[in-house]
Amino acid sequence: MRKVKNLIVGCGLSGVVLAERLAKQFHEEVLIIDRRNHVGGNIYDYQDAETNITVHKYGPHVFHTNDKAVWNYLSQFTDWHRFMYRVKAVMDGIEVNIPFNLDSLHKVFPRQLAEKLEEKLINKFGFNKKIPILELRKTQDADLEFLADYVYQKVFLGYTVKQWGVKPEDLDKSVSGRVPVYISRDSRYFQDKYQGIPANGYTAMIEKMLQNPLIKVELNTDFKDILSHIEYERLFFSGAIDEYFNYALGRLPYRSLNIVFKTHNCEYLQSGPQINFPENYDYTRSVEYKYYLDEKSDKTIVSYEYSCPYKEGKNERYYPIPNNDNQQLYNRYLSKAQKLKNVYFIGRLGDYKYYNMDQTVARALALFKELK
Ligand code: UDP
Repeated sequence: MRKVKNLIVGCGLSGVVLAERLAKQFHEEVLIIDRRNHVGGNIYDYQDAETNITVHKYGPHVFHTNDKAVWNYLSQFTDWHRFMYRVKAVMDGIEVNIPFNLDSLHKVFPRQLAEKLEEKLINKFGFNKKIPILELRKTQDADLEFLADYVYQKVFLGYTVKQWGVKPEDLDKSVSGRVPVYISRDSRYFQDKYQGIPANGYTAMIEKMLQNPLIKVELNTDFKDILSHIEYERLFFSGAIDEYFNYALGRLPYRSLNIVFKTHNCEYLQSGPQINFPENYDYTRSVEYKYYLDEKSDKTIVSYEYSCPYKEGKNERYYPIPNNDNQQLYNRYLSKAQKLKNVYFIGRLGDYKYYNMDQTVARALALFKELK
């Protein structure tokens, strides 16, 4: 029987934060395993061999946080390329700012109508306010109702049906609430105080975090193949909680993505890093990676995301699906988990939560604090 002090399943951001803390602060040995052949989980990136452009294998990751402790923590392992994300969606063939803001309003409506709607929005909600689309749709004012319906139809409905297979109102409201209507001229996707992309990529940052002689990384290793012949004092599990329990209570659903990468023979293809397509095409969005780190090449790489249900063995889990039924099933798994001793579930899949990267780090740091 092999013995380890700490076993961490999953070499994504959650697992790596805990590995780093346990080794650095507790001076304890850590074995961290992953069934994939690389570290980093879904934040893994790599340099494309032909163009040297840094590509995010599992889709776009732009770091943003208001949490100074999280920003300072990660800054020990990377410099940051200063970057504030800007996203456009094609509405009626016009590229408009997302979140839909006052500039978007003026882009899609004739001047008089745009001015009337702008005034009504500011009078009702105030300037610099963020209003989730499902909230805006509740308004009684006929003009604002018209606006809400328009934005719902053109920005949210098609995109959400493609991305999740259901309408915005059939998901937890926090999902469409991630991208509210913004009564502002701020054209950034996020307003957080700290925003950026690791200057040498996410993988380099993760490798630096793992650089400790007390941390052993074993890739191509499935927890199911080793759990029966390994003893641990603590287990941190960032895989799917339903899989850990062999689906004893049923399967938690996840969305997956089929991301198609294309190298285009031109310097730039798009007007910016991310274009959303609520209405056109079968993919949700296209992302041009050279914008992220301002990389130079005669060619460019663009990814196209096709969303689909997660199927075991066929594709990867990307997103838990936040709704009432799934939360209830997760809660039942959580009760089982709470009965285990020295086993901790973490990350998007362990907690079945639609975490952003900073929330993942904050959660892992908070758990580490509890261990102390
Ligand atoms: N969304 C939308 N249209 C957009 C952008 C976002 O309907 O143009 C909705 C959609 O349901 C999406 C959610 O808002 O899944 C969250 O978007 P976000 O960009 O945060 O998704 P992520 O980058 O996490 O995939």
